[in-house]
Amino acid sequence: MMPFASEFWSRGPNDGLFWDYCLARELRFQTCRSCGVARQPPHPICPVCASADHHWVPAPATSRLYSFTVVRTAAHPAFKDDLPYIVAIVEFPELPGIKMVTRLFDADAGSLRIGVPLTLVWEPVSADLVLPCFRPGGPATG
Ligand SMILES: [Zn+2]
Repeated sequence: MMPFASEFWSRGPNDGLFWDYCLARELRFQTCRSCGVARQPPHPICPVCASADHHWVPAPATSRLYSFTVVRTAAHPAFKDDLPYIVAIVEFPELPGIKMVTRLFDADAGSLRIGVPLTLVWEPVSADLVLPCFRPGGPATG
């Protein structure tokens, strides 16, 4: 469990269902029913076609590292014991509209390379918050 409390998170007016799905350990992205473009973070209006009609599609199994940084200075004392840690941007080739900021676990920043396949891991923070995080390596097969 992450060393910080859920007091650092609050649900926004548009992302309640996203966090509900995460609590059920389902990563889903809001997707426009009119033009089919997925978006993250959730928003009531499609930024492409302005439609308000949307649904939630499961994240594809394939994800990869788009970018990352190593955090070496704690922005808050609660994060100090976690240093250094990696903050990553993850992309899903099958959902080109999605780039998600997340934590990357079990990774050595010195050998990490852009584009490596990632695997989703769930990080429980509190009884009502589970974070979608990732680690290097593709999903298990067979
Ligand atoms: Zn749209």
